[in-house]
Amino acid sequence: MAKIIDGKGFAARLHVTISQLTSQMQSTFGITPGLTVVLVGDNPASQVYVRNKARQAEAAGIHSETRYLSAQISQAELLRLIDQLNRNPAVHGILVQLPLPAAIDPQAVIEAIDPAKDVDGFHPLNVGRLSVGGNARLPCTPMGCLLLLKDCLGDLAGQHAIVIGRSNIVGKPMALLLLRQNCTVTIAHSQTRHLAEECRRADIVVAAVGRPQLVKRDWIKPGATIIDVGMNRIVTDSGATRLVGDVDFPALQSIAHAITPVPGGVGPMTIACLLLNTLAATYSQMNWPLPQALNELIP
Ligand code: NAD
Repeated sequence: MAKIIDGKGFAARLHVTISQLTSQMQSTFGITPGLTVVLVGDNPASQVYVRNKARQAEAAGIHSETRYLSAQISQAELLRLIDQLNRNPAVHGILVQLPLPAAIDPQAVIEAIDPAKDVDGFHPLNVGRLSVGGNARLPCTPMGCLLLLKDCLGDLAGQHAIVIGRSNIVGKPMALLLLRQNCTVTIAHSQTRHLAEECRRADIVVAAVGRPQLVKRDWIKPGATIIDVGMNRIVTDSGATRLVGDVDFPALQSIAHAITPVPGGVGPMTIACLLLNTLAATYSQMNWPLPQALNELIP
């Protein structure tokens, strides 16, 4: 049976390290890292994510502030707020929760955030640095996936990885991160032909699609490692709802080497990586070198 990759446990250990580093920063330099999350509108899922981010940041000793804005706010007003946050020295990380209302161009908002405070790693400067090399803030979900993979497999060089999904927030940066680890990377998407065959060649499968249990047992090479990013709420026969991933978890357990569960796999890692990014952003804005414990954690 496959090893279950315990993202929840891994994230809990990261939280302990982050708490130690924030209290060390406070006692040595008298600085508390600050994270501001901006939520526009009243999307219920976004509200849950934002609350979790704020709660976990505070628990790790990071000062967290959430700005709740009306869905009617204009793009110009939102950009003005971002400009204020960019200039506020107590704010080291800025995250604008996506999706934004249709009247606001998300790319304009992302590009307005100071790249040094872009703890989501979505600003084109950070995306470019991830692509060409250099000190980039990495997008949190792919970073969490990579930490799990490295913990499970060690050196990834030479592994054939397939990333299913090419979104800017998960699939594309995941593929770049795996390339940076010297994997041979295939990127699959909604137009890919013979997806099952492509998958069967892979030692590592990262599924970031948003289609419940899309990836079947016969798509998997025996001994492959599976990272399931998908979070899909389905209605069961009894009428209750249940969270499932993009892979058929029960069936894949008997063929994979290791697999992340949903929930309890990638999800908890995303917030832990957001906090790591906030801490790293604080060090770099203060022009302090990253402590070794943090440097070793960030891929
Ligand atoms: P998205 O909708 O932006 O992108 C989905 C990608 O899947 C697209 O690139 C599309 O081409 C591809 N795709 C769609 N149908 C396909 C098919 N039949 N075969 C192959 N590829 C197909 O989604 P996203 O934002 O990248 O998120 C993907 C999933 O990951 C969602 O379930 C989302 O909820 C989840 N997610 C989880 C976390 C986390 O922290 N665990 C974070 C972000 C996203």
